[in-house]
Amino acid sequence: MAQQDTEQQHSGVLPVDDEGFVNDTEDGEEREAAYRERGTSRPITVVGNPVLHKECKDVTEFGPELDQLVADMFASQRTAEGVGLAANQIGVDLKVFVYDCQDDEGKRHVGVVCNPVLVELPAEQRRLDDSNEGCLSVPTAYAPLARPDYAEVTGQDEKGNPIKVRGTGYFARCLQHETDHLYGYLYIDRLSKRERKEALRQMAENEPRYPIVAND
Ligand SMILES: [Zn+2]
Repeated sequence: MAQQDTEQQHSGVLPVDDEGFVNDTEDGEEREAAYRERGTSRPITVVGNPVLHKECKDVTEFGPELDQLVADMFASQRTAEGVGLAANQIGVDLKVFVYDCQDDEGKRHVGVVCNPVLVELPAEQRRLDDSNEGCLSVPTAYAPLARPDYAEVTGQDEKGNPIKVRGTGYFARCLQHETDHLYGYLYIDRLSKRERKEALRQMAENEPRYPIVAND
């Protein structure tokens, strides 16, 4: 792949490439640290908590409160050692997710998406990949789940600018997984009944390695 043009277009928080997708790989380490250092880590909600099982509200205010939420999400993601986190996973009913995730070339992507919508792609543009998937809201459980190995999401950055994000490999999986969260779905909802039960059993038998919100 060619080097990034030095005169990149800027539409918002991140530069964009020729096709209008954000360049979320540059300065990932510094950007992730800057977000996280302004935030406070919060405990993670787990399967059964109602906030995870309904569609979240659209983000309509792009101000300091949202900035603080995003910072708290990066801090929480780091504490839980996650590669993606949706707002309802820290109990906030808003369509926002953050990510810090590698693609199939090992490139680290760091960013924020508000009001994400997954782009429907033609079948020939996506191969299914059946890698293992896990979720901070289903602690300690993993299960193979077939998903397209390429994904595109449209939405807004934390300032309200329209953005497009695309990803391959594990990052493609992350974009789909986090968007699902904000519409009230967990990856275990996409498993067979038996696999779902097995995931819940794994969760019940093991201690999470980060703070969680206990269900009533
Ligand atoms: Zn998850």
